[in-house]
Amino acid sequence: MTFLPHETDASLQWADLPSVETTSVRHTLGELALEMSGVAAMCLNAKRRLVWANSALLALTGFNHVELTGRCSRLFLREGQSDEAIVDILAGVTAERRWQGELRCMRKTGSALPVRLQVSAVPDAEGETLWVLQDLSRRRADEALIHQLRYFDTLTGLPNWSWLQDELSRLANRANSRNERLAIMLIDLDRFRSINDARGEAVGDYLIETLAERLQTAKVPGALVARRDGDEFCVVMPCADVGQAKTVGAVLQRLVSEPIILGQQQYDLSACVGISMFPEHGRDASQLLGNAGTALHAAKRNHQGTVCVFCDALAADAQIRRRTEEGLQRAIEQDELSLHYQPQVDLARGTVLGVEALLRWQPNHGGKISPADFIPVAEQTGQIIPIGQWVLEQACRQARPWCEGGANRMRLAVNLSPCQFRHGNLVRTVSTVLAHTGFPAQCLELEITEGILMEDPERVEVIMRELCALGVAFAVDDFGTGYSSLGYLKRFPLQRLKIDRSFVVDCCSNVQDRAIVDSIIGLAHNLGLDVIAEGVECEEQREFLQAHGCDMAQGYLFSQPLPPTALEGWFARRPDGGLRP
Ligand code: C2E
Ligand code: MG
Ligand code: MG
Repeated sequence: MTFLPHETDASLQWADLPSVETTSVRHTLGELALEMSGVAAMCLNAKRRLVWANSALLALTGFNHVELTGRCSRLFLREGQSDEAIVDILAGVTAERRWQGELRCMRKTGSALPVRLQVSAVPDAEGETLWVLQDLSRRRADEALIHQLRYFDTLTGLPNWSWLQDELSRLANRANSRNERLAIMLIDLDRFRSINDARGEAVGDYLIETLAERLQTAKVPGALVARRDGDEFCVVMPCADVGQAKTVGAVLQRLVSEPIILGQQQYDLSACVGISMFPEHGRDASQLLGNAGTALHAAKRNHQGTVCVFCDALAADAQIRRRTEEGLQRAIEQDELSLHYQPQVDLARGTVLGVEALLRWQPNHGGKISPADFIPVAEQTGQIIPIGQWVLEQACRQARPWCEGGANRMRLAVNLSPCQFRHGNLVRTVSTVLAHTGFPAQCLELEITEGILMEDPERVEVIMRELCALGVAFAVDDFGTGYSSLGYLKRFPLQRLKIDRSFVVDCCSNVQDRAIVDSIIGLAHNLGLDVIAEGVECEEQREFLQAHGCDMAQGYLFSQPLPPTALEGWFARRPDGGLRP
């Protein structure tokens, strides 16, 4: 340690100072007590030269008695810690006979030594002062670790969400004072969860680390990158306008979509980006991040790999979705959900071969909400898992007498959401429901979409085969609207394709729709699958479909979806009682 000479010369280093005669340790009672207490202490004379130091101080600073004694007091000041600190200490001691505070000091080795220092004038000893140092290095290291854990992501080392919120508020204030704009971009990987589930967390972690590095090293001027958790990143950057933000969003997407090779495997990822702009989409961090999140949800709903910028229409949409989500939480308990059933008819024979269960939501306070509106919300929030389970159980219970009445030949079709494949144990759910309700497994058909087949083919195939082993059949709903490669149709255990209503609507008048419907029927039959047309509304469509070999149809021409008692009435009015094939 170096101490300031009495006549302060700030430019002097302690090594330059003349060494005074070494004094021996004075064994007064007070000094003995200080020696035994273990606290680091030293005594300076009126000329501020060290006359005594205990062994704790020597251990703390790394100097020995000879090196210290007679030296003056500036050795522990680190660069940047100005001599003003010493002046302040001296002033305090002169005025109040004591001073205390924190200082950044230095050991003999040059390493940092943060201390809490207490200086007191020694009573009855003209001008002598006692300096007691408390080592704060451990506390500072703990604080640094806490800061690191609190504000930085352990996997990627990127700043985390808490940091981002604080930093974004600061950036927004600065941008405001400089009249600048910022773009806040949330980047969320598509289908990352299924890769994580299928390939394991170690692979997922590797992919996230690789992307974190790519985003960080991307040459986007002034950009800050943070990781939320899971597969969501945020980039904040100064930005002139929405056009520039979209361009950068697309650049970031391209970075994500460059293949990642791990072992023998290549991973081709994609991401959606949601953007909000400061100041037009919010003035504080929570508004800006919330609105970027709303834009991200809209991008995700749209299509994989979409960039979406926040706008007022999205805000209104988000509010409706929030209300829907809240309402859905109570829907099952408050008995607001019910099922309607729509008959499926054999085109050649005119007999009823099955019914499709369609979910209805009628909130107690009035109105009806369409499944097209609430099912996507339930899928996003995960509420579709309990709801889907309720649908399956209720449908099996209600349809059991109809299927048994048809000598186990009438089928019950139930729609499944992709989430039910991703989360929850679908095989256990279905087998438990079949056991509870006594519904015959061979009468149950599950309707899935092409997207499910594309998402995680290996896992989905295992689940489908286990369900098939129970006797359950599968149909591909809305066929032709997805992006499936047709190769998938061979791979999965399927029984039926359902031609999407959008092709049926104009199949009699539009040449292309006619060709598509015709091709789907041919394709299904060539693969040994049945084919059913949905949304058949008129006789002309029925005739066209029948003439082109379509096996079955469903639509308003035959019946609207009906509640159970109305459906039973409909069955009864049919010449065959509706139940015999
Ligand atoms: P989807 O499975 O393709 O069901 C057919 C939709 O077309 C139903 O709409 C039905 O009411 C309607 N529809 C039937 N015939 C005709 C017709 O001739 N003309 C017209 N214009 N429409 C017809 P809905 O009930 O509104 O259901 C919409 C979608 O919601 C369903 O499409 C299905 O994807 C989903 N959904 C319904 N219930 C459930 C469920 O329990 N679980 C899941 N995950 N999704 C469901
Ligand atoms: Mg369906
Ligand atoms: Mg459909």
